[in-house]
Amino acid sequence: MNTFPAFPFIDLAAQQLRLGDRVGKAISQVLQHGKFIMGPEVGELENALALSCGVRHVVTCSSGTDALLMVLMAWGVRSGDAVFIPAFTFAATAEAVALAGATPVFVDVDPHTFNLAPDSLESAVRVVDEHGLRSAAVMPVDLFGQPADYNAISQVANGAQVLVDAAQSFGAMSGGCRVGALGDAAATSFSPAKPLGCYGDGGAVFTDNDATAELLRSIRVHGQGFHKYENQRIGLNARLDTIQAAILLEKLAIFDDELAARQAVADRYCDGLADVVQVPWLAPSVTSTWAQYTIVVDRRDEMSAALRDAGIPTAVYYPRPLHQQAAYRFFPVAPAGLAISESLSQGVLSLPMHAYLSPHQQDRVINAVRSALR
Ligand SMILES: *Cc1c(COP(=O)(O)O)cnc(C)c1O
Repeated sequence: MNTFPAFPFIDLAAQQLRLGDRVGKAISQVLQHGKFIMGPEVGELENALALSCGVRHVVTCSSGTDALLMVLMAWGVRSGDAVFIPAFTFAATAEAVALAGATPVFVDVDPHTFNLAPDSLESAVRVVDEHGLRSAAVMPVDLFGQPADYNAISQVANGAQVLVDAAQSFGAMSGGCRVGALGDAAATSFSPAKPLGCYGDGGAVFTDNDATAELLRSIRVHGQGFHKYENQRIGLNARLDTIQAAILLEKLAIFDDELAARQAVADRYCDGLADVVQVPWLAPSVTSTWAQYTIVVDRRDEMSAALRDAGIPTAVYYPRPLHQQAAYRFFPVAPAGLAISESLSQGVLSLPMHAYLSPHQQDRVINAVRSALR
């Protein structure tokens, strides 16, 4: 019996209401000036993003997946190179490595933060030459919006470059640093369901390295040189649409407010649920964007069915670790195995999380989880 109407997992309509006619006006301006590719809003957005996280260069692009791929291409990562990634993540992390021609090596995650486990990474780095591979890069993922442990990772990375998969974490902080300024480069996504999303696909790379930034700007336009019809390298067609940049500029203006609202939801969930389920745990000195609020439960299917009956949508990120997916099952894994990734995929359940969840809706979620456990 459903006494309350169901509510959405992510409420983009509520955000549109808050933005009013600002997005419509920004889109009309692009229609008027007509510079749909690399129009002025693209550079404006790149400057605003660079300023917001204190990094020298931001290169926007067509998606988070392309952002990851472009960095690997710029670094010359190729066949015979190992790129270490967590097994418990979205497929795009591994996909970018494979598309670059390199080999993803799966590493286990920490049972509390769900992020790349430095001890598992250390053991994988040690044996990679047994697979005939060179250790080229580490791609930690800031899962569900929490930055990974970059100090510990760089200590065991053994000189490999660090590319942050910040698809879910743009806006978070670690040790006083904004995500974007962590690692040798960071890649984020502006897909609609990410904390800072546009109305289509989009992404960006952040780096302090001048040479990498120049390569990225060339790679995103077919490897263009100084002139339009001069091709210095093999690249992609991977630009961010001007219309999406214009939308993102408007959304960026309310992003800090939204991050604070998401933190308030996370606090209320934690207060209401920490005594009955495993709630998210943040490492000291980091903040999260709360891209997802993910609990761990014993009987997940029963829990999600009970919540659905109460009108509350949930999602499972991710039901299967990547080393068990058909496309990725032949790639190497860390020597001690991936037990945590495997067990998390059985128990994780993400609750509704966005900046416009009312206190009443939050209480409905909390009460439904508690009564399902009774
Ligand atoms: C969303 C996501 C990506 C890919 O971003 P797209 O913009 O959808 O290509 C990569 N990695 C992680 C961890 C993601 O969540």
